[in-house]
Amino acid sequence: MQKDEDDDTNNTTFKDSHSGDNPNYFDVIIIGSGPAGYTASTYTSRAKLNTLIITGSLPGGQLMTTSEVENYPGFPNGIFGPELMMNMRQQAERFGSNIIDDEVIEVNFQDRPFLVKTHSNEYLSRSVLICTGAAPRKLGVDGEEKFAGRGISYCATCDGPFFKGEDIVVAGGGDTALEEATFLTKFGKSVKVIHRRDSLRASKILQEKAFENPKIDFIWNSSVKKITGEKKISKVLIQDLNTSKETELDIGGLFIAIGHEPNTKIFRGQVDMDEHGYIKLKENTKTSVEGVFAAGDVHDYRYRQAVTAAGYGCMAALDVEKWLNEKK
Ligand code: NAP
Repeated sequence: MQKDEDDDTNNTTFKDSHSGDNPNYFDVIIIGSGPAGYTASTYTSRAKLNTLIITGSLPGGQLMTTSEVENYPGFPNGIFGPELMMNMRQQAERFGSNIIDDEVIEVNFQDRPFLVKTHSNEYLSRSVLICTGAAPRKLGVDGEEKFAGRGISYCATCDGPFFKGEDIVVAGGGDTALEEATFLTKFGKSVKVIHRRDSLRASKILQEKAFENPKIDFIWNSSVKKITGEKKISKVLIQDLNTSKETELDIGGLFIAIGHEPNTKIFRGQVDMDEHGYIKLKENTKTSVEGVFAAGDVHDYRYRQAVTAAGYGCMAALDVEKWLNEKK
């Protein structure tokens, strides 16, 4: 690896000779291939930046495991998640993005150009855009994997309208669980919140709203033990954690809202993160390291929508382009 001797973090310059003869040297490497990553790469490659996307272990991200998406603009009849992501990938490819289906295992943002290592190769880049997203926490119980997308959802905003007239259970006791439970009362016949303790972690205002809602009931000190059904979810087995008593509930939908884990393990010690591991943005989409940017659920724990991630991807790509132009 070559390193610019006159580079430093606050006053970065690049030598064009880097990129000329090294096929593994890019203007921007985008790590992650959800809506943020693909949108960003469409913008950077259209702007004639030599762009590499390293997709990660699930090319297309979380939407590859969802069924119908009804709230992504431009598709009045909805679109299946995998189809939407394939479209985004093709759109990025059309403008010349290089796409590699591999997983990043190590990065070095201390030296310049930045180093990005995957299982099978090493790449250098003038800038990096982190779009690795976040994964919903799993309960880890029997049936969870089998019924994911078939009655189990990790996003009420995305899937709530598919559960009209159903008896719905929400697992969790934080802000997300209560916000989702309240939202789901618009669609469900009933909504039960199952929480493992006898008090909620959620903010007082969300608690008050949920307690006042006649459609929401709480099952305290309990956890989901097993999820069963035929083609679709139909029952959950609940255990009272004080008495160990088990009860079976007939349900039409289970929303698991027990938090998210940002996919940032490989960036520890490289960029600033908050106490939950979300990447901290310094200004617009800039991280604590000059030349490293972030977009999507990897920093945004509030909105977590495909369309907001795509929006952040666009913003970050414009920031990358501007920053690279300034450094020329
Ligand atoms: P969270 O605050 O971490 O809450 C997760 C909830 O799930 C907790 O009640 C936890 O129980 C429970 N839980 C965790 N692992 C579990 C397991 N294996 N089995 C059963 N239950 C489990 O996550 P979040 O609600 O997604 O919120 C994340 C962040 O976003 C928070 O900072 C939150 O304030 C913020 N947020 C804010 C808003 C808003 O302001 N409107 C809306 C949504 C989210 P314990 O309580 O027993 O630990």
